[in-house]
Amino acid sequence: MPTKECLFCEIIEGKIPCTKIFENEKIFAFNDIKPVAKKHVLIIPKKHMENAGDRKHIKILGELMLSTNIIAKKLDIFNSGYRIINNQGKDSGQIVDHIHLHLIGGEPLKEIN
Ligand code: 5GP
Ligand code: ZN
Repeated sequence: MPTKECLFCEIIEGKIPCTKIFENEKIFAFNDIKPVAKKHVLIIPKKHMENAGDRKHIKILGELMLSTNIIAKKLDIFNSGYRIINNQGKDSGQIVDHIHLHLIGGEPLKEIN
């Protein structure tokens, strides 16, 4: 459990409603409340954990990445393409300190380079 209140833990616990897209024993995925593209899903581990760069999370990080294929197929954007983002820290705009991937697509996305 997190040391302080965590929005995503509350979503997993059902205290805050969401639109679920995918779930298995370790992973939960739901629509972002403020989508930046036509499709915008957040993919999170069910257990609270912070810092996607920490080696101790390597297994679940692999599982999260593998789930993007399944979720993109569910969203019907597997062939059209999509982007996977992990924000880390203040300058990235990260607001929730529970590991999460943003999966966005459903339309052409702005180039990032
Ligand atoms: P971060 O900026 O930390 O990488 O991403 C957090 C994401 O959570 C943001 O894209 C934000 O729109 C989303 N978010 C914030 N509050 C809620 C909420 O109550 N429900 C859902 N579904 N998404 C939320
Ligand atoms: Zn959490």
